[in-house]
Amino acid sequence: MRTIALTNQKGGVGKTTTAVNLAASLAHYGRRVLIVDCDAQTNATLSFGINPAKLEATVYDIFTGEARAEEVIVRYSDRIHVIPSTPDLAGGEAEKAPAASRGQALKQALAGLTGYDFVLVDCPPTLGLINVNVLVFVEEIIIPMQCQFFALQGISLLLKTIDLVQKRVNPRLKITGVLPCMFDGRTTLSREVLEEIGRHFGDKVYRTRIRSNVRLAEAPSFGKPAIEYAPESNGAQDYLSLAREVLGMPDDAKVPAELPKQETA
Ligand code: ATP
Ligand code: MG
Repeated sequence: MRTIALTNQKGGVGKTTTAVNLAASLAHYGRRVLIVDCDAQTNATLSFGINPAKLEATVYDIFTGEARAEEVIVRYSDRIHVIPSTPDLAGGEAEKAPAASRGQALKQALAGLTGYDFVLVDCPPTLGLINVNVLVFVEEIIIPMQCQFFALQGISLLLKTIDLVQKRVNPRLKITGVLPCMFDGRTTLSREVLEEIGRHFGDKVYRTRIRSNVRLAEAPSFGKPAIEYAPESNGAQDYLSLAREVLGMPDDAKVPAELPKQETA
């Protein structure tokens, strides 16, 4: 089971869009995926058409130690399951619970889970205790970056946090990849920022660039990933390409002609 955090303390760079659409693309290639929404904005939860107001248990109950992972999981489809978030997570109460304050809440709750090929964790745009709990749990990090000015601003703080968690508690933690998001090859700025990201992260930068694509922004309001909402769109195709990279599939691997049926729970 691969455990991956989508993290960057900068807001609005594509973390949630990547968590949701990478999950759907990995499921498209037959993988079973659990998405853990650790952001009180509940964007990943809503992107799967799940209404946080109607839930009895959420990731909040994992942080407070009041629920086991199995009790919180919502089934979106056969291969996509979600641990939803709640606005309650924003109050800071959850982090006061003993396991959460030690950074161990997610790890303890999810350690025994089986049946998934991937756990993808969507992080909030902060470097607080929630994020630390995520970094203590996962083994891999994907950093989505918006191809805009200031993309690398503040990144050293994120790298320092990763380094600290890696040295002190989670030696297996590593940055698997850096993902250029909202890329527009027609603008000099996008190309320059991409070059700068390349200088900074070298071969960690994915070959796939997620192009700016309005379908990616529209899909959440329909409660489904882009691959279901607009399968032919550049957005859906770019995330399929990312999934192939993440899976180590060859570049020219064919997309199955028929999309797997997604039953909505
Ligand atoms: P936050 O830090 O607030 O959690 P985030 O890093 O999760 O933000 P997203 O919510 O994924 O970022 O994206 C920010 C906004 O940009 C959203 O409205 C999303 O729909 C839109 N967006 C993300 N990626 C793309 C893209 N490739 N093309 C067009 N719009 C995009
Ligand atoms: Mg988000």
